[in-house]
This record gives sequence, structure tokens and C-alpha cells, in this order.
Amino acid sequence: MGDFEVKDEDLAGRIGILETRHGKLETPTFFPVINPLKTEISVKELKSMGFNNFITNSFILRKNNIIQGKIHEKFGEDMIIMTDSGAYQILEYGDIYQENRDIVSYEAEIKPDIAVFLDVPTGNADDWEEAKTTVRLTLERGKEISDIVKLNQDIIWVHPIQGGSFLDLVEYSAKEANKTEGFGMLALGSPTVLMEKYRYSTLIDSIYVAKSNVSRGVPFHLFGGGVPHIIPFAVALGVDTFDSASYIIFARDNRYLTGERTYRLEDLEYFPCSCPVCSKYSPKELLEMNKEGRTKLLAIHNLWKMKEEIGKVKQSIKEGRLFEYLQQKAYSHPALYSAFRSILKYSVYLEKYDPRVKGKVRGVLLFDSYSMQRPEIIRHLNYISSYRHKKEKAIIICGDKLTSPFSSDPKVKAIQNRNKGFELLVAIPFYGLVPVLSSESYPMSQFEMPEEVDNQTIEETLKVIEKIIKQRNYSEIRFMECEKSVLSHIMSINTSL
Ligand SMILES: [Zn+2]
Repeated sequence: MGDFEVKDEDLAGRIGILETRHGKLETPTFFPVINPLKTEISVKELKSMGFNNFITNSFILRKNNIIQGKIHEKFGEDMIIMTDSGAYQILEYGDIYQENRDIVSYEAEIKPDIAVFLDVPTGNADDWEEAKTTVRLTLERGKEISDIVKLNQDIIWVHPIQGGSFLDLVEYSAKEANKTEGFGMLALGSPTVLMEKYRYSTLIDSIYVAKSNVSRGVPFHLFGGGVPHIIPFAVALGVDTFDSASYIIFARDNRYLTGERTYRLEDLEYFPCSCPVCSKYSPKELLEMNKEGRTKLLAIHNLWKMKEEIGKVKQSIKEGRLFEYLQQKAYSHPALYSAFRSILKYSVYLEKYDPRVKGKVRGVLLFDSYSMQRPEIIRHLNYISSYRHKKEKAIIICGDKLTSPFSSDPKVKAIQNRNKGFELLVAIPFYGLVPVLSSESYPMSQFEMPEEVDNQTIEETLKVIEKIIKQRNYSEIRFMECEKSVLSHIMSINTSL
């Protein structure tokens, strides 16, 4: 159990298949939290919405003696079930003591597909020493159950990574968890305060640090990734699975999720959604309903939004458009704009895992200077910097009025015929320089850019071009078609060096 096969990749994100005893789980996926004592949303309802997986709390199951036999006998053999240990309760109330071995033995008995041991979440600890203790205790607890873990390899055991917002601790915790034998999955404990206060930059930093210190092939879970708008950013960094109770907690509090933000039901005049709930009711009708009915309907809507987001992210990966999807999200809320900018700090990491060849050849959509940090452009700039020129003399043609691929453009062909001894390079925004000889290859041949390119992109493109020109020792450079080009300043680049 626990084989994980990656089917598609984009940035550092992926679509994968995790083998479990109850079937194949396609990731990225979201595990709704089911509280077995509160049945606002039942497992049956989850199934009818197309969820074939959920997470529940083994501490509550055990304490209330809810399971006789195996967990799937109660909830259905067609569900992939993850259990966590109850650590969340310890974090919340601080007074629940439960032996790690007892709870893990219980999990081994009821046999969920995926199980978490009794870790010690860093949570919102803001003291380094205190956070370090949670990391140490979690690692100790992972080791003290190794015999049970090894005997029950039909369960995928999850090793949590702690450290909260202390990145040095997250790094240590990730490396050690990655080394601990018997665990088929790793999980990052995310401080809920980061999510609730929209501090996504810190969350992104900790996901990056954890992911870049564990084996790429191990499925990676994020605890508490409970709102749709953070999912694409986490997936882009390589998170495979999420769980959260937010859909129901928010619903009890009249909070309504969308792909971009959370609304209060009172503030909505219309529903910006066509799920079965929003198609049938108006915000006013929900507000007039009794609390129980309203909570249930809001929870169902919130679940639809989580599901929809997962679908959008997967389709973006499939099309190789995850970067563009993040750009789109970035402009829906300043916190997401920050998240997007934070992710760009890790563009080297994203480029490393972004596939060189994507399933279907398609155009790269370029918008503003941020687009220069997408893997395809970074790779092109690396290529052009190391490109060995064959000729001593070069002609740079400003290409913003040319048609792509440049090698077939009549103007380029005419220039080529008249200037045999010159190397031909096309200057265009975002890419800097494109050698005509390689202009037919991806992604130089397929891209779309705005009719008016913004000034910052122009400036950054000119900087790139200047750097490349200075690296090469051409004895002569001529500029053509540049007078009316957006890159006309190219002609002032000092080529006499
Ligand atoms: Zn809806």
C-alpha cells in the first residue's frame, strides 16, 4: 500500500494516484473532516457530492466506542478513510492526555486507509523553545510507535512535520520525518492563525521549506488547508492532499466560501455560485431559515467550492497553466497577491520540477513582468545566456511586429538572405533575444502577449538583452526594425564593449 504514481506535473505541483486498500485516490484532493458525534453532513451526503474520501478523529471514535470491528464496516467500503489522532483537541483545550501507543494501536485495529499518530502540533506557538519542544516530541512519538507501524503496512502512516512559522525548525522537522522509516506520507501542520489572519506568505515559506527538504516522491499533506483560494498556491509547491473542518465551522458562523474569499452571509445580496444550494435559495431565504437548516446548506455549498477548486487546479495542471491560474488568483485579493509574490521567491524550485515537455503543446500566455518568472521564460533566459553563437557579427531584429515563428516571417527571411555573414536574433518583450535558428521550438514559437506591454516588462527585457550582448563578443551588431518598436531603447545599448 501507499504506492504513489505521478501522472502530470506543472510547476512543482502534480496529479498523482495514491494506492490505498480501498481504491486509488487521485490527488490533489481534499479530505472533509467528519465529526462522528455531529452529523450535520453525513458520509452518505459526502458520497452523493462525489467525495470518496474523508478524515475523522480516532480519539473521538475510541472514546465513544463508535467502531465495532473495522472502520469501513461503519462508513462504507467505497470510502477512503484517513484518521487523525485527536491532537487537534489537545491543541485546542490543552487538557486531553492520551497515550500515543494506545491511540495508534487502536488505529491499527480499526484499519483506516491512512492514519496519523498522536503528534504535538506547534500550532500558534510564538516562542522558539516551545516550538522546538513540539518538533522534538513529535519526532519521538513517531519513533516510539515504529513497531506498530512496521507491523501494519497495509495502512499508510503519516508523519507530521512541525515547527510552525519557525522555518529552521520546519527544515529540521522535515528532514528527520523524511528519514523515519515506515511512513508513506508526510504532513505539514499549518498554524491556523496564518490561515485566519490571511498571512499566506509565512504559510508559503513553510510549505516550501518542508517540501524542499523531503523526498519528492512521497505524498504530502497539508493539515487545515481549509479555504479554496489557498489550494492552488499550496499545490503549486507540491502539496497533494488537504483536510479541513472549515466548511462546517464557517457554516455555523454564517460564513460563505468562494474561490477568492470568504463572505458573511449577511453581506450577500446574490449568490455568486450555481451549486445545488445557491441555485435553489437566495441569501435572504437562507438567513430566514432556522440555524440548523441554514448551517447544513451553507456547509454543502462550502464543500462544493472546495471540490470545484480542486477540479480547477487539476485541469490547470493538465493544461500546464497553473502559473497562469495563480496569476489570475493573485488579483482577487491583496493577501493572494502577496501569496503569489511569495511563491515567485521560489521560482528556481518551481522551474526545477516543472516538466520540460508538457502533455499538449499550447501557447504560453504572458501578461506582465511577473510572467518573466514563469519556468518557460526562466528556462529560455538560461538557454539564451549559454547559447554559443556561430558568427562574429549579429543582427538584432525588433520582433514585436513580426509573426511567430520568426524563421518564417517574410521580413526576417529577406534580412537573412541579404546578410549571410550575420547571426540573426529577434528581440521581443519577456524573452529578450530569440535566435532565429531556434525560433520554431517551444515556447519561442507559441505565446500570446498583450498588445501594449507594460513598462516594467520592457525595462527588464532590455536589461536581459544588454546582459546577453555584453557576454558575447560580437565584432559588430546591427539593429533592424527597432525605430518604432516598444524596445526602441535597445539601440542605445552600448555595443562597443
Ligand atoms: Zn453554492
